[in-house]
Amino acid sequence: MRELEERIRRDGIVEDGDVLKVDSFLNHQMDVELFAAMGREWARLFAGEGVNKILTIEASGIGIACIAAQQFGVPVVFAKKSRTKNIAGDVYHVEIPSFTHGGVSDVIVSKRFLGPGDRLLLIDDFLANGAALEGLLALAEQAGASVAGAGVAVEKAFQPGGARIRARGVRVESLARIQSMGPGHIEFC
Ligand code: 5GP
Repeated sequence: MRELEERIRRDGIVEDGDVLKVDSFLNHQMDVELFAAMGREWARLFAGEGVNKILTIEASGIGIACIAAQQFGVPVVFAKKSRTKNIAGDVYHVEIPSFTHGGVSDVIVSKRFLGPGDRLLLIDDFLANGAALEGLLALAEQAGASVAGAGVAVEKAFQPGGARIRARGVRVESLARIQSMGPGHIEFC
């Protein structure tokens, strides 16, 4: 999506460790007009897929997912990073390693909000090694829900996540795919 690529080129900052900082428009200050354009694009791509719910993960996915959900007319469920070690039986649970912070998060979704009747669109801000999306896929599987695909804002295509998720047969629609990046340069696929 050209608008997102142009914005990344203009305002994205490449940091050490293959991290792209986009906190001026995507995951700290949020440009909701841009989010609406992204939501329209996913709605076009996944039209006719019968999506009845969007599943994302806190924190950065939530804003994008909410604006996208307005285009689909469906609710958003966000997987929560749990602070308690006692995971009760009324939740689906998965452990997800963090790309940006290191460590592992216990991530949960209440069984009240996902089930076998659901057809999900997974949404996240970045796709790097694929751990976050794999976690969301595991939660969907535990719930017996089907997955129409994943909508990603920025895929770092030089990292293995995209290939890993697509190899599982999951449709991934990334609105900007970065082929390579370094200090002062960003190349799109
Ligand atoms: P993965 O699980 O695919 O390795 O990484 C995806 C998650 O890590 C995303 O939810 C996102 O929050 C974070 N992430 C990965 N790469 C980047 C990056 O380059 N910049 C930012 N801001 N977040 C990233």
